[in-house]
Amino acid sequence: MAPTYDFDYVVVGSGFGGSVSACRLAEKGYAVGVIEMGKRWTEADFPKTTWNLRKWIWRPGLKLFGFYNMRPFRHVMILCGNAVGGGSITYANTMLVPPTSVWTEGSWKGLADWEREMPAHYATARRMLGVAENRILGDADHMLKRMADDQGVGHTFYKTDVAVYFGAEGEAPGTLHPDPYFDGEGPPRKSCVGCGGCMVGCRFNAKNTLDKNYLYFAEKRGAKVLAETRVVDLRPLGAEDGSDGYELTVERSTAWLFKQRRKITARQVVLAASALGTMDLLLRVKRSLPAVSDRLGHDVRTNSESIVGVRFPGNQHDMSKGIAIGSGIHIDPFTHIEAVRYSRGSDVLGLIATLFVAGKGWGRIAAWLWSGLRHPIKFFRAAWPFGFARQTLIFLVMQTIDATLKFQLRRRWWWPFTRLLCSAGSRIPTNIPAANTFTERAAATFGGIPITSTSEILFDLPMTAHCIGGCVMGSDAEHGVIDAQHRVFGYTGLYVIDGAAVGANLGVNPSLTITALAERAMTFIPPKS
Ligand SMILES: Cc1cc2nc3c(=O)[nH]c(=O)nc-3n(C[C@H](O)[C@H](O)[C@H](O)COP(=O)(O)OP(=O)(O)OC[C@H]3O[C@@H](n4cnc5c(N)ncnc54)[C@H](O)[C@@H]3O)c2cc1C
Ligand code: SF4
Repeated sequence: MAPTYDFDYVVVGSGFGGSVSACRLAEKGYAVGVIEMGKRWTEADFPKTTWNLRKWIWRPGLKLFGFYNMRPFRHVMILCGNAVGGGSITYANTMLVPPTSVWTEGSWKGLADWEREMPAHYATARRMLGVAENRILGDADHMLKRMADDQGVGHTFYKTDVAVYFGAEGEAPGTLHPDPYFDGEGPPRKSCVGCGGCMVGCRFNAKNTLDKNYLYFAEKRGAKVLAETRVVDLRPLGAEDGSDGYELTVERSTAWLFKQRRKITARQVVLAASALGTMDLLLRVKRSLPAVSDRLGHDVRTNSESIVGVRFPGNQHDMSKGIAIGSGIHIDPFTHIEAVRYSRGSDVLGLIATLFVAGKGWGRIAAWLWSGLRHPIKFFRAAWPFGFARQTLIFLVMQTIDATLKFQLRRRWWWPFTRLLCSAGSRIPTNIPAANTFTERAAATFGGIPITSTSEILFDLPMTAHCIGGCVMGSDAEHGVIDAQHRVFGYTGLYVIDGAAVGANLGVNPSLTITALAERAMTFIPPKS
């Protein structure tokens, strides 16, 4: 008798890769289950500011059931989203196409005719996500333009492309529209009010999160989303190569004690738990899936990102208005800066902000302490959390210059009970000298205080919201974990379709590329016969 399964496909994670996969597989007639460890959110549930940690931060062990996660590692602090809709719930909506040079670099080089194939998938991704040019420029964007003009790069200023609904030209912000994108088949939307709160969850139904497009249609076509459910084990059923399907062990992610472990079976499995989540899961199940390539955990990239900024104490500016990332500039051929903001009152990240000083290692710490002694008021104002969102123009700096890390499971002396995901390899640069010079000069010229994060000064720890790679594409198992159709080498019916698959440093925000790659991956799967 042919085996029966709970689902034809189980998709682990409901972010960009997972939602596209679920939507397209459901359209092709498959029975799809989406397993998501985060909670489901509506605009009525989002916190007003980041001070509501219970609703903002995802740390179930501490009873914090939000959607935003900060994961510190030795080499980098990784920011990510955990929710139905994955990172789209907390991300800053920016949807940029990387330069075409990324297809001729990294592990995916030569595996497909990328430059010919990808434009069509980017176009579909943009249409599905409702990408439009930002129409609301706030103080932060105008200030970025003035700073760029002052330093001779004003001509590179651009308004970001974002997945936000702006309504009809000239219409009042907050106007309700029946589905503006999918000929009436999708959910309604309100036009953006420019509150700057995109990263705290849009309370105005203007942000085109995945639960309003891909995931919405996946569910409409029969996919079942199991929220607050974490996959903790994955093994082949019957044949060792997965050709008889897979068994997943899941548990309640929000429970402390009664985790209600159970098994789910699927003919095929799509891993879409984000670069960190997919790497972590695959490393943990390597004993059940021994043929997974040893490149697992290698080639992890951060977009060579750094977060600095300029704080303007007092009331002369309100940097919190606009959309989360409203504009950007290119300060040299490799370095790109975006103007980022949080909504008024969302000041928690001000707790880790401090006065910027250039340098490296102990010398930098000494210079930082010395600057505190020489300029105590400036030092204090840079670190004072209240008013941070209103007063601060945050610079998100990205470079196309490549640097990679490795992740592995290790038992640590301070937590010997289980093996933890740890970063390894040489450090990626925390300091981007061109961006630092730009920040210091901009602060001096426009009367602000240059800032950075305390973790960068004290621990040489850069922050990134753009962790990619770890299960990259390659020509074979010696060079990658998956092939150019996202199939895990050595297994049948096992796919990685998320940020983990990305094989080069994009130098721009990755979500549009992850979405376009997922669209492409789905073209290789035939409709259910
Ligand atoms: C604050 C912030 C701002 C950002 N801004 C931007 C931006 O403006 N533009 C941009 O392009 N990118 C941005 N990003 C990055 C973007 O969110 C990610 O690159 C993107 O979401 C990654 O997509 P993904 O498909 O790999 O996985 P994700 O979208 O991260 O989704 C993975 C999902 O899998 C779930 N999961 C993980 N492990 C398990 C498990 N074991 N069982 C069940 N579920 C699991 C997670 O809960 C998560 O919901 C931002 C990120 C952050 C944190
Ligand atoms: S700026 Fe405010 S209204 Fe507009 S998308 Fe962001 S959170 Fe929603």
